[in-house]
Amino acid sequence: MILITGGAGYIGSHTNKALHNAGYDTVVVDNLCKGYENFVKWGNFENYDFGSKDVSEVFEKYDIDGVIHFGAFSSVAESVEFPQKYFKNNYKNTLNLLQVMREYGVDKFILSSTAAVYGNPEHVPITEDQDLKPINPYGHSKFITEKALQREADKGDFNYVSLRYFNAAGCDFDGEIGELHDPETHLIPLILDAAIGKRESISIFGTDYDTPDGTCIRDYIHVNDLADAHVKAYEYLCKENESNIFNLGNGEGYSVREVIDMCKKVTGRDFEVKMDDRREGDPAILIADSTKIREKLGWVPQYDLEQIVESAWKWHERMNVI
Ligand code: UDP
Repeated sequence: MILITGGAGYIGSHTNKALHNAGYDTVVVDNLCKGYENFVKWGNFENYDFGSKDVSEVFEKYDIDGVIHFGAFSSVAESVEFPQKYFKNNYKNTLNLLQVMREYGVDKFILSSTAAVYGNPEHVPITEDQDLKPINPYGHSKFITEKALQREADKGDFNYVSLRYFNAAGCDFDGEIGELHDPETHLIPLILDAAIGKRESISIFGTDYDTPDGTCIRDYIHVNDLADAHVKAYEYLCKENESNIFNLGNGEGYSVREVIDMCKKVTGRDFEVKMDDRREGDPAILIADSTKIREKLGWVPQYDLEQIVESAWKWHERMNVI
């Protein structure tokens, strides 16, 4: 049985589905502070806070073999405003979970990490061996969590994989689950809100970056490709007695303007685009070198930006009809 913290959230629910399709039993632990109970369509569900001692009741009830840990806050902007909130939930509460895992002899752990651990990278595409110099509290909270995991693995009888996500986007092609944040801060759903008429316009945060069109460049990866990487990472932990860290991105960068253009093309709708100030904590360019995970786990991303936006648009239209 795999325990999935945050499995009622966006990436967690897509991974729960992928694990189920691969034949695994799962139990989702989520306190629903960000997630949705109706996103838990596979396996078991327990409404617990993984940061509290009570989570040991879940380890008591189920025969847990490994943990995939999505339960975390993930907004760069919010982390700049409320750093303590991020260090407490993303770092301190993970330590609690690790302690309970140790008590129950659970030795496999997968962390949702982030490209934000790199800060402003020294070179792009970014390889895993670059210096980690996070420039926002979100990235910093994941950076120290990775360090704690490394120390835990050094002690023995415990292995982890840290997956450093670039920009997760897109939705389940069956439309069973999707992306739903409250408040929404991510670029693609906000653009689609403008396309569907829920927002008057989309604002570009910064047009004076050192990039060809002046807007930030990111590496967008379909959430199903991310989910598939978790299945492969879990299989790796079952087979190999070692820990590892992998970047997870498509290896292609798109500027904010290019993403907006792609959304206009896919939706066939036009909307107002406004120029705004930079958002604090945003590096100019984040593009993954994912060679390591391709070679080591045989992971190959299936979807490009157009398919990402198509799947997100399908979900968006569906959500706004209901
Ligand atoms: N962004 C933007 N307008 C918005 C939301 C985001 O210009 O309304 C930009 C943001 O500054 C970043 C990129 O879009 O350069 C992706 O932001 P998002 O919040 O989706 O993901 P992040 O890179 O912060 O994980």
